[in-house]
Amino acid sequence: MTARTHAHTHPSDPATLHSGLWLGRWFGVEVRADFSLLIIFALIVVNLGAGVFPTWHPDWPLWLVWGVALVAAVLFFGSVLVHELSHALMGRAQGISVPRITLFLFGGMAHMEGKPRSPKAEFWMAIVAPLTSIGIGFAASLLGFILAAPVFPGTDFRQLFPRLGAMTTLLLWLGPINFALGVFNMIPGFPLDGGRVLRAVLWGATGDLAKATRWAAGLGRFIAWLLMGFGALHVFGGALLQGIWLLLIGWFLNNAARASQQQVVVLQALADVPVTRVMRTALARVPPDTSVESAVRDILLASDQESIPIEADGKWIGLVSLADIRKLPQERWPEVTVSEVMTSAEQMPTLPPDAVAEQALERLGDSRTDQIPIVDRGTMVGVVSGRDLAKWLSLRGVASS
Ligand SMILES: [Zn+2]
Repeated sequence: MTARTHAHTHPSDPATLHSGLWLGRWFGVEVRADFSLLIIFALIVVNLGAGVFPTWHPDWPLWLVWGVALVAAVLFFGSVLVHELSHALMGRAQGISVPRITLFLFGGMAHMEGKPRSPKAEFWMAIVAPLTSIGIGFAASLLGFILAAPVFPGTDFRQLFPRLGAMTTLLLWLGPINFALGVFNMIPGFPLDGGRVLRAVLWGATGDLAKATRWAAGLGRFIAWLLMGFGALHVFGGALLQGIWLLLIGWFLNNAARASQQQVVVLQALADVPVTRVMRTALARVPPDTSVESAVRDILLASDQESIPIEADGKWIGLVSLADIRKLPQERWPEVTVSEVMTSAEQMPTLPPDAVAEQALERLGDSRTDQIPIVDRGTMVGVVSGRDLAKWLSLRGVASS
């Protein structure tokens, strides 16, 4: 799967983006594992250690069964990581920044920054990973068969598995798993990779990204309901675990597809709105030597203003937000000035007055601030926050979350 920071929408909160287990930087991409991954890791180890391997290898000692099960689970996540990294690296080759990857319950997500660039870039970034998985699947299976070849002659099929070594067993398990990973992701429902490929093709054909997203996500939701239907049939048929698994995947896909549709509606509603229309202009501003204490008391608590522009001689030099003040212990508020805790103007993502609200939403998604100053030749003329955009959307009858 691939996801945009706010397209897939569910880990759109900056706090959740940076949570989870840090697994290092790979080719310049930050890799994290969500804690929900532990559940699926445990499921795979137990499934292999208690079910699959004892049947394949009745003569293996316990330590070997569980040892190989553990290695297999690690290799499985290695396979998911390679899948996501191939998205990230192809994205980079197409000029799309993918700063991080999160592995979670349903596999992985490569977080893209900004809007998709072009149908061609989207197409290659989406299709490369399922092809990589299918390629690994073929290679591992082929290698497994080659290693197993000396065992084949004169062996009854049922007697075959017990005679395979640990390495061959691993390869013959990992091969089909990677193959399945690639094929599942090629299902043409957005936001699965196949759905992204479909969207890129529709986008290329119609020239309309919003329409392409609506159609691909619509098919994604249809497929999600099919999966949930199959899941329900499995549950009633007694295959509880598979049934619940299908229900969960279907539910997750449906949510992700719906969020993508929603995002298109939101972006369209903000596309032609000038930022000057939605920005907040009635802002109390303070000079740099104001104490944090009086800024909090006289402005932040006395009004619903969420940040304070700092101005020296009529020139805007920085912004103090609630987050900046939170970092300072309260007993130090009277003695520290706002200029010591502010985020300076150079460090802030800003927009010119002729920008549109859609750009403000993108900036808010890409950066960690929740305020975008609108700056006209060094003078701050207003501020746009997520709350301002939500207010506009609700006035226009569009739900923003
Ligand atoms: Zn993928």
